[in-house]
Amino acid sequence: MDARELVDYAASLDCIHCGLCLNTCPTYLLTGVESSSPRGRIHLMRSVAEDELQADADYAEELDFCLLCRHCESVCPSGVRFGALMEHARSALEPVRERGPLARLARRAGFDLVLRDRSALRAAATVGRVAQRLGLVRLAARIGGQRARGLADAPAIPPAAERARLPERTPAAGTRRSTALLLEGCVMPELLGATNRATLRVLAACGFEVHVAREHVCCGSLHAHNGEASGARALARETLEACDARSDEGGTPLPLVVNSAGCGSHLKELAPAFAGQPDLERRARALSARTLDLSEALTRGPGAEGLAALLARVPTPARSVRAAWDDPCHLLHGQHIAREPRAILGRIPGLELVPMELAESCCGSAGIYSLLRPADARRVLEPKLAALAASGAEILVTANPGCQLQWAAGVRRAGLAVRVLHLAEVLDEFVVSVARPATAS
Ligand code: SF4
Ligand code: SF4
Repeated sequence: MDARELVDYAASLDCIHCGLCLNTCPTYLLTGVESSSPRGRIHLMRSVAEDELQADADYAEELDFCLLCRHCESVCPSGVRFGALMEHARSALEPVRERGPLARLARRAGFDLVLRDRSALRAAATVGRVAQRLGLVRLAARIGGQRARGLADAPAIPPAAERARLPERTPAAGTRRSTALLLEGCVMPELLGATNRATLRVLAACGFEVHVAREHVCCGSLHAHNGEASGARALARETLEACDARSDEGGTPLPLVVNSAGCGSHLKELAPAFAGQPDLERRARALSARTLDLSEALTRGPGAEGLAALLARVPTPARSVRAAWDDPCHLLHGQHIAREPRAILGRIPGLELVPMELAESCCGSAGIYSLLRPADARRVLEPKLAALAASGAEILVTANPGCQLQWAAGVRRAGLAVRVLHLAEVLDEFVVSVARPATAS
């Protein structure tokens, strides 16, 4: 393979070596080593493309060590699109990189089977739950050494009844203000069905008739972040087909509401996956334009009106609860959304939004990073756990499933008396479930 094909060389030339990104990079902060920084990684990529460096195991290790948090993008004066650079480099390297037979088998099973088929996902969750109940997962974590440590933090898989799928259509509660399609997600129904159901109740309470494309499985973001570009493209295409088929009475495609920051960020940047296929590229751009994070859906147009009407019916409780917001990387650095969730939380009666240091930096979840590199993921979270403790918050609020699970495991390990909730769950508990009936307002 031509070394230049391993890297998006033209994009790598955007880096002007200023170093402004270094102190935002969690892996550089852990090691203090230039090659573990954004600038260092870009230098490695360029060296590979210029045939000065072998794309060997050390190079692969630096690509894997990156969390793809994109914090470096937010501060880069030269507009380096580091996320796209890293996704390209990982995907180009994948066919030629060395992996052991077990690792290769696990990877193919995960990306080619489980994440692409709803029945396989369901079966994997069932087997995982049985293994957890029998103590086999704990045992594997104990005897599997460093590499298996991620299993110790694996979330408890809920019973089948809690893993029920969302209904295909849910009417608005009260006045219907709009209609939206809700992305159900791939692992969300199996691990965080409660978050999905809370999202559904919140949208319905704010006046949305909610549709779910139940035949759809995964948007492909986990594939894209982990060097599986062709799998990501296939899943993106299925996403397009499923979402384009849903429109309102007037034939306008429905807005797509997403409660997972990683999926939302991926869906808003879908078009490059279809470069050279003009029809798909156009449809991908259109889907990106109508993709909304939950916090956007509730602070714009009919969603904002619905939320305001709902909040007006919430009585002020006798005691307030302190909550801290943690920016998911793919919400802040991927979608540039910071104001909306804070604005929503700041308006909830009885909720006091307290500031938390390091809210804008990565928690170490990074998709499946915390499973693949558990020791690094824990080290990245540690300073944030200290910041959470110092904030005095009783609730940590996030908006991404991976972050939710990573925080929950960290809080448990640290013995903090803090609940970890998704923004949808906060709204469901502190607004929807306590609002007076509409007729009484
Ligand atoms: S994406 Fe995150 S971990 Fe990777 S180089 Fe940028 S700041 Fe560092
Ligand atoms: S901030 Fe941007 S231009 Fe400066 S070193 Fe980092 S990636 Fe390169």
